[in-house]
Amino acid sequence: LVVIEGVQKHYGDFQALKDIDLTVNRGEVVVVIGPSGSGKSTLCRTINRLETISEGTISIDGDRLPSEGKALAALRADVGMVFQSFNLFAHLTILENVTLGPIKVKGVKKAEADKLARELLDRVGVGHQADKLPAQLSGGQQQRVAIARALAMKPKVMLFDEPTSALDPEMINEVLDVMVGLAHDGMTMIVVTHEMGFARKAADRVVFMADGQIVEEAVPEQFFTSPKSDRAKDFLSKLI
Ligand code: ATP
Ligand code: MG
Repeated sequence: LVVIEGVQKHYGDFQALKDIDLTVNRGEVVVVIGPSGSGKSTLCRTINRLETISEGTISIDGDRLPSEGKALAALRADVGMVFQSFNLFAHLTILENVTLGPIKVKGVKKAEADKLARELLDRVGVGHQADKLPAQLSGGQQQRVAIARALAMKPKVMLFDEPTSALDPEMINEVLDVMVGLAHDGMTMIVVTHEMGFARKAADRVVFMADGQIVEEAVPEQFFTSPKSDRAKDFLSKLI
């Protein structure tokens, strides 16, 4: 579903991504891990073209990602993204945060957008908060709203970039549980996370990055019990 081939990304003289090849199949959950600065966020951001790439191709469901224009907007709608900071619109209600994209970008009628938004908010466990403002919700609740907002665009793939790193420990699981539910429902997901429990439970594949390269790819069991590269061994030995 997502095919990344030969992708290179430079920031000036610095090369943040080096010859990345990665294919993510429909319904697959790929967890990306690696040390700080290894290019995980950059990879996520290139997939929906928040960042341009210097070389290579990225295609979603057979369509090669264009670099600009209407086609880009359409393809971007296929890619839902959830960041570390929830980025909800502070002056809009929870419901409005979720309906904004469908109404503005996809031209969905308000009644229909409201109905879908309420279903999604129920699914992530914040249906009763629909009329509140983001600031009235906990971090974990806001992040679940951010997930509902991304899902409202009916994306083909969901990208998560450290969705729980900004949360208090007691709120991490409520967000991870929603993600595990999505994985079980067959959503195609690329997840950057330091939550190894999630990787073990939900990942079909673990991708380990270091220095802008994919160093190792394996099923979680294999990766966590017998990593091949020294970089991965070193990384895993430092986790508690
Ligand atoms: P972390 O675990 O800390 O989030 P990461 O793996 O997500 O790290 P990236 O944010 O993708 O790492 O950054 C990869 C490299 O690219 C880093 O060395 C970073 O300093 C550099 N980089 C990222 N964004 C920019 C930018 N806009 N301009 C210049 N360099 C950048
Ligand atoms: Mg990052």
